[in-house]
Amino acid sequence: MNLINNLIVGTLPYVPKPIVAKFAGKYIAGATLNDAMNTVRTLNSMNAMTTIDVLGEDITTKEQAIESRNGSTSVLTAIAEQQLNSNLSIKLTSLGLKMDKQFCLDNTSTIIETARKSNNFVRIDMEDRTCTDDTLDVYRAMRSRYEMVGIVIQAYMHRSEKDIRTLVAEKANVRLCKGIYVEPAEVAIKDRKGIQENYLALLRILFEGGSYVGIATHDDVLIDGAKKMISEMKLGKDMYEFQMLLGVRDETRKRLIEEGHRLRVYVPFGKDWYAYSVRRLKENPQMAGHVFKAIFGIGQ
Ligand SMILES: Cc1cc2nc3c(=O)[nH]c(=O)nc-3n(C[C@H](O)[C@H](O)[C@H](O)COP(=O)(O)OP(=O)(O)OC[C@H]3O[C@@H](n4cnc5c(N)ncnc54)[C@H](O)[C@@H]3O)c2cc1C
Repeated sequence: MNLINNLIVGTLPYVPKPIVAKFAGKYIAGATLNDAMNTVRTLNSMNAMTTIDVLGEDITTKEQAIESRNGSTSVLTAIAEQQLNSNLSIKLTSLGLKMDKQFCLDNTSTIIETARKSNNFVRIDMEDRTCTDDTLDVYRAMRSRYEMVGIVIQAYMHRSEKDIRTLVAEKANVRLCKGIYVEPAEVAIKDRKGIQENYLALLRILFEGGSYVGIATHDDVLIDGAKKMISEMKLGKDMYEFQMLLGVRDETRKRLIEEGHRLRVYVPFGKDWYAYSVRRLKENPQMAGHVFKAIFGIGQ
């Protein structure tokens, strides 16, 4: 399947946009804020919490960063006005991280200040290895001023245990994921089993240290491993939440909710849905299999 996946990834730029839209529709709430709000409302009615992401990472101008910042503050305002159960996820490169760190800090601060006014929460996503240190710096600068900000750690990175031990000491709210970017072996674990083992080891450190954890995965090995740990350690439901991407493994999502776990769905939306979808697929060729199925109508 890997060869087929890689072939699909290679031909993706030539796949007509409407066909890409056919599969992307499942993973993205739509192009507008209204689309995102409708998706959130539906998920809330199914007892799922959400986190909204305004799409648009690869920016090249400060104007685009400001547009992205304003997009995020509008989301927070709409959540508050419509009394939805959602927080916000942000990517610092969309706020100018690679252009001017102080400018990015200012934009992030504006967003988090908006969240504070409605008692909401902002999660800073983790991007590729070139952003890790700067992302942690911005997170810490924000955390020194605000309680309601969290970070993401990627289990495939060799550095993550050290990062997590520091974050636990700082009582950080951490989303733990495998990591989506293609990284070299010098910085990241490359085999599936090794990543799974590290994920569960890091999760244990977070739980033992009393951090609130967003367990972000669709992998049954990790979901089952997390549930085992939760039960062994007798953790309260207020110490963690499961997190899943919109459109992925809906049945698992429903089951976790039925079992009484808190669950949050990551809801991306925005006019940049196309670039996001293609980039994600390129970054993680395994995903191409799902595209193939979606394009050719094979059930998942
Ligand atoms: C809420 C959330 C936030 C995230 N934030 C970040 C972040 O800030 N930084 C970062 O680097 N990464 C982030 N990720 C991505 C993450 O790092 C992984 O790349 C991604 O979740 C896939 O890993 P997995 O643990 O789900 O395992 P996988 O092994 O990829 O998936 C497990 C199973 O889920 C199913 N599945 C997975 N994807 C699909 C799909 N698209 N369609 C249908 N079925 C599918 C398949 O059955 C697969 O076998 C986030 C993920 C989630 C869920």
